[in-house]
Amino acid sequence: MSLSSKFEFQNSINFAKDCDEKDELKSYRDKFYFPKTNNGSKKVYLCGNSLGLQPSNTETYVNQVLSDWKEFGVEGHTDAEWPWLPYHEFLAEPMAKIVGAKPSEVVVMNTLSANLHFMMVSFFNPNSTKNKILIEADAFPSDLYAVESQLKFHDLDPKESLLFWQPREDNRYDHKDFDQLIQKHKDEIALVLIGNTNYYTGQCFDMKHITKTCQDHGITIGFDLAHGVGNIKPNLHELGVDFAVWCTYKYLNSGPGSLGGCFVHEKHHRADLKRFTGWWGHDKTTRFNMRQGFNPIPSVEAWQLSNPPILSMAAVKASLDIFDEAGFENIHAKSKKLTSYLEYLLLELKDENLNIITPSSPEERGCQLSIQFLDADKSLFEELTKAGVIADWREPHVIRVAPAPLYNSFEDVYNFVQILKRIRYER
Ligand SMILES: *Cc1c(COP(=O)(O)O)cnc(C)c1O
Repeated sequence: MSLSSKFEFQNSINFAKDCDEKDELKSYRDKFYFPKTNNGSKKVYLCGNSLGLQPSNTETYVNQVLSDWKEFGVEGHTDAEWPWLPYHEFLAEPMAKIVGAKPSEVVVMNTLSANLHFMMVSFFNPNSTKNKILIEADAFPSDLYAVESQLKFHDLDPKESLLFWQPREDNRYDHKDFDQLIQKHKDEIALVLIGNTNYYTGQCFDMKHITKTCQDHGITIGFDLAHGVGNIKPNLHELGVDFAVWCTYKYLNSGPGSLGGCFVHEKHHRADLKRFTGWWGHDKTTRFNMRQGFNPIPSVEAWQLSNPPILSMAAVKASLDIFDEAGFENIHAKSKKLTSYLEYLLLELKDENLNIITPSSPEERGCQLSIQFLDADKSLFEELTKAGVIADWREPHVIRVAPAPLYNSFEDVYNFVQILKRIRYER
């Protein structure tokens, strides 16, 4: 049963407004800057899956770092309002809550693709028999390039060593196909890397099932949570996932090109793993002695290389403080209702050329819906853009829309469908 029916929605602006009025998170909309139309009203911004909006507190956090630097120079490392030396530690706890981890398992560092490589240095150790990587067929290009290049780095041929979990004709991935691949290749697969949630279809995979299946066969399991973090509720620690990586500029609203996040399960913290190292991963008490051999911090922090860019970290902190205040449970609960409302309104159009390729069960998706328009080309998307909707177009004919529960309203969702209707049927 689709949850939209359970919510008993109505197709009217008054109903949307009423939902907004009752929304406990409604005040958060005003804590973000929206791009505006020519007449000064907020655009219908449904692109938080690509770049989250700027929180209004980000400026204050970044300015604090600038003014501490101005005031203290190098002593800001210890004397700043939020000292720079342990700055990343302030982010661990709020980030850990969002991904279901312990603070010692989570660190903000580098960027997503870089972290993916650093994780594979430690967690992809092919030998003569177990040397394959399995990913989903329509993985994000960067992930594909990363695994291909890691294989080549180990003198393996991606044509032979890269296995793909293929989606079915309806664009969905079926876990039965995953199980079959594992059964067939269980003695050859060294690593499974899955992007959860899938960036194109918005499908969210069963992390529990995938992780358990890998564990049953001694296969390392890593997730790319670029589209999952701040959107779905991963439970990385409890599931026993080996590693995960993500970015913070999509649903985590930390600004363009902002830092990445990384999870390493605590079972690996004291293990003797291969690792590319830098001084920021070294034991903090002797870090500045500068001489003796590398002594890793017994946590995910051991994977840090450099002292991090505090100005960027400040933007991550600004965002995480909002998540922490709003409570991820509340955000997630609103998300289910908001996206179900969007689904309901789209289905109300009764348009047989409109096909939502995202699963309709809220357990199998996050906030994003990917809408396929079988009869449309990019001009539809361009018209939407002209009308003040910011969404995302993927060839050949998919528009991805992602109402972000922190700042999008039920009225946004209603307005989007109204604009779509006008463009599609009333031209
Ligand atoms: C957004 C995204 C990326 C982008 O990687 P960067 O290194 O941050 O540029 C990579 N993988 C996935 C799955 C993504 O969604």
